[in-house]
Amino acid sequence: MPQVSMIPAPCRVLEALPQNAHDVRFVVEAPPLPAAAFAPEPGQFVMASLPGIGEAPFCVSALPGEGTAPGTFELLIRRTGRLTNLLTRLRPGETMYVRGPYGRRVDWERFEGASLIVMAGGLGLAPLRAFVRRALLRRDAFRRIDVMVGARSPDELLFKDELAAWKARRDDVHVRLIVDAAREGWGGRIGVITTLLDNFEGEVDGSHAFLCGPPVMYRHCLKRLLALGLYEGHLWLTLERRMRCGIGLCGNCQVSGHYLCQEGPLFSYRELRQLREAV
Ligand SMILES: Cc1cc2nc3c(=O)[nH]c(=O)nc-3n(C[C@H](O)[C@H](O)[C@H](O)COP(=O)(O)OP(=O)(O)OC[C@H]3O[C@@H](n4cnc5c(N)ncnc54)[C@H](O)[C@@H]3O)c2cc1C
Repeated sequence: MPQVSMIPAPCRVLEALPQNAHDVRFVVEAPPLPAAAFAPEPGQFVMASLPGIGEAPFCVSALPGEGTAPGTFELLIRRTGRLTNLLTRLRPGETMYVRGPYGRRVDWERFEGASLIVMAGGLGLAPLRAFVRRALLRRDAFRRIDVMVGARSPDELLFKDELAAWKARRDDVHVRLIVDAAREGWGGRIGVITTLLDNFEGEVDGSHAFLCGPPVMYRHCLKRLLALGLYEGHLWLTLERRMRCGIGLCGNCQVSGHYLCQEGPLFSYRELRQLREAV
């Protein structure tokens, strides 16, 4: 594993693309470290900060060298509080500070040869986007790929252009979108994301499923996928807890003696069954 620096590195914002009233997609210059030191894997996160304000974890939503310009990566930041209020105001040419990547590096080869089911609710598409991009870059390594995305409203859907591009690939990746509520003009489905599993035409047996979204979505999707026959070791969830250090020192994200920042944030449901408080 590459040596990761604990010192936040200044990283120039190259693009700041508002997605809606509170989410901004950032294209950021990778930390100016030896190139091998910044090589995040899907599911990993960085700590992004502004001096004198604070620091917080954000999943890498597009990895360097995976459909991104050389030496760049992407974050999707939702305005929720003091730090994210200021981060989401950054404009191209301005600087955020980044250290990492942190979190477990999941051996990607274990998924190859399988079908993939990706279910993202709201902001959950930010980390899962990196998984889908990786899978599409290595399309021949997988069988069927299903991507299901839910949002509160059509406005809240993230990465709309990319979702449309994935949809245009037709049988290469089966994309289905659903929103909780919509005004006129939305031609897609309305309802909760679990309903996309009704009459599911994809493969479940032998598939790996990746879920990221609000807790209520986990509860229902977990039940449905397991009932459809998915093996619990093939069901992957991203767990988010308050994290301060990102390296297993502060104990903030500890659950049943496990440090989510180091052992997660991606876990299989099989692993999580030992972390009773987690789900
Ligand atoms: C591993 C991990 C990956 C993350 N990835 C992303 C990402 O890709 N994009 C993104 O926008 N956000 C992500 N987050 C959440 C992000 O870290 C928080 O939104 C951020 O810490 C808020 O900081 P703040 O100072 O702006 O808000 P604060 O003033 O600290 O909090 C504002 C509100 O957000 C809530 N909040 C803060 N942290 C969390 C959290 N971890 N989970 C749920 N609610 C929280 C608080 O309870 C409060 O209601 C991630 C969190 C973790 C643990």
